[in-house]
Amino acid sequence: GVSRRGVRGNFIPPIRSNGSNTGNLTARIGAKCDDSAEDSTRKCLELLCGPDGELPEKLRNLEPRLIEHVSNEIMDRDPNVRWDDIAGLEHAKKCVTEMVVWPLLRPDIFKGCRAPGRGLLLFGPPGTGKTMIGKAIAGEAKATFFYISASSLTSKWIGEGEKLVRALFGVASCRQPAVIFVDEIDSLLSQRKSEGEHEASRRLKTQFLIEMEGFDSGSEQILLIGATNRPQELDEAARRRLTKRLYIPLPSAEARAWIVRNLLEKDGLFRLSKEDMDIICKLTEGYSGSDMKNLVKDASMGPLRDALRQGMEITKLDKEAMRPVNRQDFKDALQEVRPSVSPNELGAFENWNKQFGSLA
Ligand code: ADP
Repeated sequence: GVSRRGVRGNFIPPIRSNGSNTGNLTARIGAKCDDSAEDSTRKCLELLCGPDGELPEKLRNLEPRLIEHVSNEIMDRDPNVRWDDIAGLEHAKKCVTEMVVWPLLRPDIFKGCRAPGRGLLLFGPPGTGKTMIGKAIAGEAKATFFYISASSLTSKWIGEGEKLVRALFGVASCRQPAVIFVDEIDSLLSQRKSEGEHEASRRLKTQFLIEMEGFDSGSEQILLIGATNRPQELDEAARRRLTKRLYIPLPSAEARAWIVRNLLEKDGLFRLSKEDMDIICKLTEGYSGSDMKNLVKDASMGPLRDALRQGMEITKLDKEAMRPVNRQDFKDALQEVRPSVSPNELGAFENWNKQFGSLA
């Protein structure tokens, strides 16, 4: 078929004849869709079309392959995390519900004086549930969830980051209410002017701030969540746009116990006593949520390793006859799985929280 792409592969938007219906998108871009790759692009664009069969204004000048990437890789139709899946962080959950979930659910009430901020920063050590909170917000607010790691914009999408950002915000505005989760946002909005900060990354940052500005002033139902474990790197402009800033700390002993119990119970493997749990909690001081998950994973291998050590063959192993996961399995696992955050890193978060946090 005749290609609608220009020499450099960029999309040439179809010409609109004034007034009259130009026919549906399938017909218009169908001509170039002669292999299955292009077929999927077409399907994806079709889904974004309005009732008139036209691509929304914001998406018209963007390359279809970028729109497709956003729709297939960045957009998550079913984030599938609920508040109940997240251990601890009660205060953060409560604040987030009031600050961002309700406004997304009831834009009619949350306007004027009650107009919410459109930017939320979640900061704290890695593996503490920031991404989970983002997904839960989207779920609670019945919003479409978009996840992008800012470092991929600068590494994987070299030179194209700006265009991808435009596609991201463009697709999000067609899928409102929407939650855009930008992981490692510090790498995008960092204040460090490293010698010869690349022109490209400066442009990327500008583009990003422009997009945020756009939906901040308008009536769009889009929430931007930035996550970082280096909040100190954010500059004043970034802080100004991320009006709510919540510290997501390491899990408490109670939350750690909950994670252990929850994960083992899911598999029907929970047989630990209160005393076992107390010991495990004591020994896991300083472990993050994701460290805890790794610990449980390793400990749950204990009974299996034991059986195999006794000469059992994996293919003949009787699942029912395996012993339960016990305290010693956790003690063994503790040798393998070490905490990923060091205590002196925590002080920096607490200081930043005192200075810039919303709940300090
Ligand atoms: P980050 O703070 O780096 O975004 P994630 O939300 O991606 O961390 O958490 C990584 C994994 O660690 C989760 O998928 C989950 O299994 C576990 N985890 C972390 N924090 C919690 C928590 N508060 N409750 C339950 N699981 C958690």
